Amino acid sequence: MASNGNGHSNGHSNGNVPTQQWAAVAESEGAPIKYKQIPVPKPGPDEVLVNIKYSGVCHTDWHMKQGDWPLKASKFPLVGGHEGAGVVVARGALVKDVEIGEHVGVKWINGSCLDCQFCQASDEQLCQKAICSGAHVDGTFQQYCIAQAAHVARIPKDVDMAAISPVLCAGITVYKGLKESGAKPGQTVAIVGAGGGLGSMAVQYAKAMGLRVIAIDAGDDKREATKKLGAESFVDFSKSKDVVADVQAATEDGLGPHAVLLVAVSERPFQQAAEYVRPKGTVVCIGLPADAYLKAPVFQTVARMVTIRGSYVGNRRDSAEAIDFFRRGLIQIPYKVVPLSELEDVYQKMIKGQISGRYVLDMDK
Ligand code: NAD
Ligand code: ZN
Repeated sequence: MASNGNGHSNGHSNGNVPTQQWAAVAESEGAPIKYKQIPVPKPGPDEVLVNIKYSGVCHTDWHMKQGDWPLKASKFPLVGGHEGAGVVVARGALVKDVEIGEHVGVKWINGSCLDCQFCQASDEQLCQKAICSGAHVDGTFQQYCIAQAAHVARIPKDVDMAAISPVLCAGITVYKGLKESGAKPGQTVAIVGAGGGLGSMAVQYAKAMGLRVIAIDAGDDKREATKKLGAESFVDFSKSKDVVADVQAATEDGLGPHAVLLVAVSERPFQQAAEYVRPKGTVVCIGLPADAYLKAPVFQTVARMVTIRGSYVGNRRDSAEAIDFFRRGLIQIPYKVVPLSELEDVYQKMIKGQISGRYVLDMDK
């Protein structure tokens, strides 16, 4: 192992790290993406430098670029991306347990303090000092990306890096959300936004966890796609005259699903789910439509003992478990690989709701 190959004192690298790289850059809030060359960053003492091979594109990246959330990017120009799979090529002097050459994933949680009450309790996504990829620091839409060594996800070497990349946010997030829902094998979960990136993952994880799935989304493509992934029924929100009645009717006893996973990017379903969930059921809010509010009828929510909760990505253990489901062949969502230079086109398709599954960027094209 060559030392100091990246010019950083006391760290280690594989000796082949270039000084310039290709990246997809948002120069300012709302600006279209520019594909251009930028410098390769250097890892700090507790960080690794990852040669990203593939990165999934999450709807969150669009929100960050547009600046439509209360969470604002802390820098522009900004490189987005937080579903990056790649190879460790350099590490800081304090990093002992991540090896050069290891396959790792760079997630939304790029780093955290590891010391606060939330980090101590493995709720690191709640750390007040958490650093997010493609929000506080440049993310994975570049060939070389930095992350805190303690937070990179370990990817077994026999796992396909393009296929695993969407697991690194979408997979982890819905797996965590399904656990938070409390739904048990044999019970039914409605997945709202089931044809998208998180939704497709949710259908597969739910099935792997022994749950029965009602998929909710729009269009015959997504109807077919979610059926292939294992959904037992489909409610087309764009055609249904009464979504609440149709979702309840999709359960055998007409009482509605035991849990609802909201991964849609519009407000409407956040105001409906508490009405169709089964008494004693749980609504898990995951999607983050801009400027949206939750709404539920107080009487029915109380008298039917409904739980409504939020769920935000997952911790390091959730990440390892979600990756293991994938490694065992249980998670196969449709994904399309396109060159990094096509990110802006991907965003345009995404905001029109035209993506079934995930788009994955190839960093070397
Ligand atoms: P996506 O664009 O791939 O999928 C969204 C899906 O929602 C699309 O298939 C769309 O057709 C569907 N949809 C839109 N309106 C709907 C409605 N009224 N009813 C049912 N379906 C509807 O997006 P994605 O990458 O899967 O992300 C989804 C959301 O989750 C985004 O807001 C993203 O920021 C958020 N997210 C949250 C977390 C978290 O930790 N909580 C993590 C990742 C992403
Ligand atoms: Zn994401």
